Amino acid sequence: MATQSKPPVLVLDNDETLGSWGDLSLLYSIYTTVLLRKPSPSHFAEIVRVTRCVRPHLRNLFQEALEMKKKGKLSSIVLLTAASNASGWVTFCSQVLASWFGEPIFDLVISSKDLVEWNMANGHFHAHHLHKDLYLVLTRLDFPLTTPTIVIDDRVEWLINHTKALSVSPYKVAVNLIELCRHYVEGWSREMEETHAAALGDTWTTFLTNPRAFTDAGRDRDLEIQLKTLRLLVA
Ligand SMILES: [Mg+2]
Repeated sequence: MATQSKPPVLVLDNDETLGSWGDLSLLYSIYTTVLLRKPSPSHFAEIVRVTRCVRPHLRNLFQEALEMKKKGKLSSIVLLTAASNASGWVTFCSQVLASWFGEPIFDLVISSKDLVEWNMANGHFHAHHLHKDLYLVLTRLDFPLTTPTIVIDDRVEWLINHTKALSVSPYKVAVNLIELCRHYVEGWSREMEETHAAALGDTWTTFLTNPRAFTDAGRDRDLEIQLKTLRLLVA
């Protein structure tokens, strides 16, 4: 009897693919290192919404991907990021997104440490780029290496051993973090603001001088387009 191959694994990059997380990961660090507490995922979900740091149509993409998995059209949903999880940010970010559905979205989360170790061991090491070898994902899932992988990423040129790459433009929005802290962060003080003003104001200052370097969030359709492609691929 012929063995049926597994349905595809959907693999998602995080930074500038699912959202613009630079400013919000800095805010997360402010919580953990200055305020000495972890924010709640639901409070952060509200911040993600008001700042438009989450990419338009992401919620629809997750909703449909979870349904595809329940119907057996996808084997797994994986977050594959070259970002560091040393501060706990990557884990926290996935919890924030999961709070939309009240259930985890990702079956597996892989961050920079795992990628570096894998690349060193498999001869993919590069001094300036972190290649993403999809065999790492399949090995971690304990799936055959013949399992198809569909990857959505803003840097598809760094992928290795993938089946299908769906490219998106880098999604980048600026947040006025100083204003945000004043209104959304409980326990925020004038002293804290004075100490951290330079770091918090960095992206916003860049935005004010060069707004064209950032995404027009209201017009971004990339995930909507790639969701249509995904539907065709798993139909
Ligand atoms: Mg990226």
